[in-house]
Amino acid sequence: MKALYKASIAGAATISIALAAYLYLLPSSTAPFEEFTSMHVNEGEVGIMFLGTSAFIIKTSHYTVVIDPATKMPKDAVASLGIVDAILITHEHSDHFDASSTFDLHHASEAVVIANEGAYKSLEGLIHRAEKLILLLPGETAKTDGIVISAIASNHSGISPLMYVISMDGLTILHGSDSGFEPGLLDYEGKIDIALLPTGGGSPTASPSQAFKMAEAVMPKIVIPMHGTSAEYAEFGSLLTSLQGIEFVEVQAQSPQVISVRS
Ligand SMILES: [Zn+2]
Ligand SMILES: [Zn+2]
Repeated sequence: MKALYKASIAGAATISIALAAYLYLLPSSTAPFEEFTSMHVNEGEVGIMFLGTSAFIIKTSHYTVVIDPATKMPKDAVASLGIVDAILITHEHSDHFDASSTFDLHHASEAVVIANEGAYKSLEGLIHRAEKLILLLPGETAKTDGIVISAIASNHSGISPLMYVISMDGLTILHGSDSGFEPGLLDYEGKIDIALLPTGGGSPTASPSQAFKMAEAVMPKIVIPMHGTSAEYAEFGSLLTSLQGIEFVEVQAQSPQVISVRS
C-alpha cells in the first residue's frame, strides 16, 4: 500500500512537471497581438493583422479597428492591443460574427460596435449603451472620433449584409466581406487605398473572378485577398496582373505587418 502511494505521488509529480513544461513551450495566444501593438505605424501607413477568413485588425497612426472577428480573438487579446476604437461586423454568418465574443471584445475595450441589421438584432439585447452600438444600412455612414465608416450593400445572403469603407488618418480601406461584385462599389472608384477582397473559401458569392470585378470597379492602390484558399488567392493574383497600378499583397494569418500606401 505504501509503495503504491509513493508510486502515485511520483506519477502525479511527473505529470505536473510534464504539464508545466508543455505550458511553457506552448506559444502564448496573445503573442501576435502584442507584436501588432508594438508595431509603430506612421502617417501614410497601415498596420494589418489578418486572423483568417475575413477577420482583420487594422491600425493607422491614431486608430485601431477590428473587422469580423467572429471567435478568432481571445478576450485577453484586447488587453494586449490597448485601445480598440471600433468593432465592425459585416453580417451575421458565423464565420464573420459571434454575438457573445463581440460583446466580450466590446466590454473589454469599450469599443463602438458597428453592425449590419442581422448582427444588430443579436447585439441589441447585449449592448445597452445606445452610443456604443450603431446599426448601419446600405448607403449609410457613421462617424466615431476621427473614423468615418460607410456601408455598401453586399452581394451576399443574410439580413442586409454589408461591405465597409473605412476612412481614418487620411487612408481609406474597403472590406469586401464575402460579397460578389456589387454596382455600389463604382461610387468608390479611385478612392480606395487598400481593398480587402474575398476570393471564395466557401462563400457562394465570392470568387477570384468576382474579386477581380470588384478590384476593377474601385481600382485600389493595394489589394489584399481574403476569405479564400491559397489556390483562389493565386488565381486572383494572376487575374490582377492585367490591371495596371494595383499592388497585390498576400498577408499571412497571425503575422502583423506594416504596409506603406503611396500618396
Ligand atoms: Zn456570409
Ligand atoms: Zn463568410
